[in-house]
Amino acid sequence: MKNIQIVIDGPAGAGKSTISKLIAKKFNFLYIDTGAMYRAVGLKALRNNFDTKSDTEKIIKMMDDIDISISHGDDGQHIYLDGEDVTSKIRTPEVSIAASDVSAIPEVRVKLASLQRKLAETDNIIMDGRDIGSYVLPNAQIKIFLTASIEDRARRRYEELIQNGMKVNYNDVKADIKYRDTNDSSRKVAPLKIPEGAIVIDTTGNTLEQSVRLLTDTIKERLSCFLK
Ligand code: C5P
Repeated sequence: MKNIQIVIDGPAGAGKSTISKLIAKKFNFLYIDTGAMYRAVGLKALRNNFDTKSDTEKIIKMMDDIDISISHGDDGQHIYLDGEDVTSKIRTPEVSIAASDVSAIPEVRVKLASLQRKLAETDNIIMDGRDIGSYVLPNAQIKIFLTASIEDRARRRYEELIQNGMKVNYNDVKADIKYRDTNDSSRKVAPLKIPEGAIVIDTTGNTLEQSVRLLTDTIKERLSCFLK
């Protein structure tokens, strides 16, 4: 039987990665966070002192010999940029914005989508992102679109950054998320949208436990059709 692919798309701060990680553990699937790959490209562009909004040609050239890979340990996915483990370095607000900027460049998307398809070939996987169900893996057996109000998403992201020891304020985080929502939904190639056949789940007002339970039940029900 073909491996099972569960894809979870949605805007920034909807809880995709936190929920996907927990669910992957429950179902013993491999979790692949595609946002981390765009973040690694954004980090490299920043390290090269490129303007991520306007140095498009330089970023395209940079893609020729960039090496992005991932590994999975007990503590989840690690991401490597040219051999360096950058897992925690990609979680800053600057890198979030740079990732969103570079993600609008078609050459960046084509390269990362091809890497993502390869990673999804063998194991049973849960992959989260913006265009996974619509562009990267349109034939995935289970597609979920996870969303929440802008206020809830900003609050969750703010709490996550504070927990990670970063000095940020709520209004800046909200503005970043709005910027990324607009960027991600309006780009020409593979924009953020509800994929055909996706189940839409709105987690506004939910606790993490409630959202995890909701997704677990939804996935269990769908999986029972494929595993019969
Ligand atoms: O998911 P995360 O917030 O880490 O993603 C960082 C950025 O990478 C997003 O704002 C989005 O612009 C981009 N991205 C994308 N397509 C994906 C995953 C992430 O364009 N599949």
